[in-house]
Amino acid sequence: LLGPDGIPAPTVFAEMSALAAATGAINLGQGFPDQDGPVEVLDAAVEAIRRGVNQYPPGRGAPELREAIAWHQAHWYGLSVDPDREVLVTAGATEALAATLLAFVEPGDEVITFEPFYDAYGALIRLAGGTHVTVPLTAPDFLPDEDTLRAAFSDRTRIVLVNTPHNPTGRVLPREVLATVLELAERHDAFVVTDEVYEHLTFGTMHVPVATLPGAADRTITISSAGKTFSTTGWKIGWLTAAPALVEAVVSVKQYLTFVNGAPFQPAVATGLRLPDEVFHGIARELSEKHDLLAAGLRSAGFDVMRPDGGYFVLADTAPLGYDDARAFCLRLPELAGVVGVPVSAFVRPERAAGYRSLVRFAFCKRRDVLSAAAARLAALS
Ligand code: PMP
Ligand code: GLN
Repeated sequence: LLGPDGIPAPTVFAEMSALAAATGAINLGQGFPDQDGPVEVLDAAVEAIRRGVNQYPPGRGAPELREAIAWHQAHWYGLSVDPDREVLVTAGATEALAATLLAFVEPGDEVITFEPFYDAYGALIRLAGGTHVTVPLTAPDFLPDEDTLRAAFSDRTRIVLVNTPHNPTGRVLPREVLATVLELAERHDAFVVTDEVYEHLTFGTMHVPVATLPGAADRTITISSAGKTFSTTGWKIGWLTAAPALVEAVVSVKQYLTFVNGAPFQPAVATGLRLPDEVFHGIARELSEKHDLLAAGLRSAGFDVMRPDGGYFVLADTAPLGYDDARAFCLRLPELAGVVGVPVSAFVRPERAAGYRSLVRFAFCKRRDVLSAAAARLAALS
């Protein structure tokens, strides 16, 4: 995890946010919104602080949040989750991922992910001593080839880690792909860990939680977070739901990672999870419109644009503009157009980088005036 000079290498998100700050460019790199989410959620956090919810919460999370998580899983997906034994509140989805991998992966165990993958996956698998095996998602549809997926599994497979809706491609994985993943996990006695942090941010395609598939309950650990849905990425309230024995194994790690986290934000997220369906639909609708605004700007600037099914990001190909190295392009983009994006090569290993070399990820979870300004600046490229 160290850079060539022996000091910690910043993540690509930190690197690109620093570049935006240093150059005054519009930051469409790191995925965080520039506007607050539902006022009910914000007010509930303020109220909790005033009410004195400022000390260590219970180890598995505030009961009202665990109950709200269980209610949310039943309401949206028909899943039955015991709030006392099958829920764990974590410091963001990141800690849920870290504690899960540290709990289950022994040195030499294999962890399968799709590729491109969210950068923390590679780092956390290494921290846990695991071996990272990947299955490519390739343009234009970003779906895995079934034979390649089958071939990735072995007797050493401990976990298959699935992210849907997917960062950075925006693909919502179809039920058939998830069913194949589950079937293979059953055959090889592996766990399925699913990162569903963008679960509510879809643009017309139905999100399917792996846990809803027949037979998934015993071996699936479902991870999500309040950060994306409620535009509260800095609160770092995440959670996982799984069978009691699996939750216990993760608790054994979490209790020594952060112990507990985010006391006053926990009741606030509970309030958010119980907001009317229309609020969630409105959040997704607004984000979808923001996608359309940025995608149109990218297209008229000359990029090839790939339509996401959900999430915060759109992929744009720089090849039609005459560039073939998106990382070099991103480093120059502040000077060329006053905008920052993230090269997709940051989500793939060097040996696979060739297939993604010209792709840039742009975040559209920004105010409309910011997206319009970015589009106007990008028009200068063509
Ligand atoms: N998984 C994915 C796919 C993400 O995109 C992110 C954040 N961008 C996370 C996990 C981390 O979520 P959190 O901030 O809740 O730790
Ligand atoms: N998940 C966010 C992204 O993909 C970034 C979070 C981070 O900086 N670690 O942009």
